[in-house]
Amino acid sequence: MTKSTQPTVAFIGAGNMARAIIGGLLDNGYPANLIWATGTRAEKLADLEARGLNTGTNNDAAVLAADILILAVKPQIMKQVCEPMRATVQQRRPLIVSVAAGIGCDSLDQWLGGSHAVVRCMPNTPSQVQSGASGLYGNERVSDEQKAQAESLMSHVGLALWVEREELLHAVTAVSGSGPAYYFLFMEAMMAAGEKLGLGADTARRLTLQTALGAARMASASELDPAELRRNVTSPKGTTEQAILSFQAAGLEKIVEEAMQACAQRSRELA
Ligand code: NAD
Repeated sequence: MTKSTQPTVAFIGAGNMARAIIGGLLDNGYPANLIWATGTRAEKLADLEARGLNTGTNNDAAVLAADILILAVKPQIMKQVCEPMRATVQQRRPLIVSVAAGIGCDSLDQWLGGSHAVVRCMPNTPSQVQSGASGLYGNERVSDEQKAQAESLMSHVGLALWVEREELLHAVTAVSGSGPAYYFLFMEAMMAAGEKLGLGADTARRLTLQTALGAARMASASELDPAELRRNVTSPKGTTEQAILSFQAAGLEKIVEEAMQACAQRSRELA
C-alpha cells in the first residue's frame, strides 16, 4: 500500500488491546502520524505521543480525523462512550471496528446514530506479541474495500479470518478468544507433572514452554494435520502411546468439547 492510500486509524480507548494493535502497526512501519489514540487521562498517553501518534482526551477530534474508528473500551461502558460521539461519527462516517466482546453490530450502529459500516472483531491476548488470532464479522454496509482495510489492520497483530454470520463470533470466542487460557492451563499441568517426575521447577517450565512453541510452529509449518503429526510420533508400544492412551481413557476430546460449548454458551449469555 502506498502512503497516500493508507487510512487514518483512530483508537477510542488506548488500553491493552488498542496498544497491542498500535504496537503491531508501528512495528510494521505504519506511519505514526496516521494513528490517533484517545483516553481519559492525557498523561497515560504520553508514551504514544512520544512515538509520534496523535493523542488526546477528545474523542470527537479523533473521530473527525478517522477513516477507521476502532472502539477499544470495555464493553460495559461502550454505550456511554459511543452516544456522545454520535454527531461527529454521523458527520465523518468512518468504518467502525469494535474489538469489544459481546456487543452486536446493531447496538453499536444504533448508539452511533444508524446506517454505519460496522465490523466486529474478536481478537485474543497473543495479539500483544503479534501472534494473535482474530475472528471478524462485518455488517451488510461494509464494502469490499473496507473489509480489506479491517483485515489488513488486524493482520498486523496476527491471523485475521472472517466469519459469515455474527453468531459465529461465539464459536470464535470458544476457539481463539479464550483458547490461549486453555493452553496456559495445559502448560501449568505439564509443569506440575514434570516436577512430580523429579525435574526442577525452572527446567520443567522451560521444557514445557519450548515444547508448546515447537509443537505450534511445527504444526503451522507442516502440510500434515495435527492428527497425522501425532500419529507420526506415536510408535506402537512406545512412550508417547502410553500418554495418549491415558488421555483418551480420561475422555480428553469430550472434556475439550464440553469446555468449549460452555464457553460459547457463556458468550451468548453475556451478549
Ligand atoms: P483496557 O481497560 O486495558 O483499555 C480500555 C481503555 O479505554 C482504558 O485505557 C481507558 O482509559 C479507556 N477509556 C475509558 N473510557 C474512555 C472514554 N470515554 N474515551 C476514551 N477512552 C476511554 O481494556 P482492554 O483489555 O484493552 O479491552 C478493551 C476492549 O478489547 C474490550 O472491549 C475487550 O472486550 C476487548 N478485548 C480485549 C482482549 C484482551 O486481550 N485484552 C481480548 C479480546 C477483546
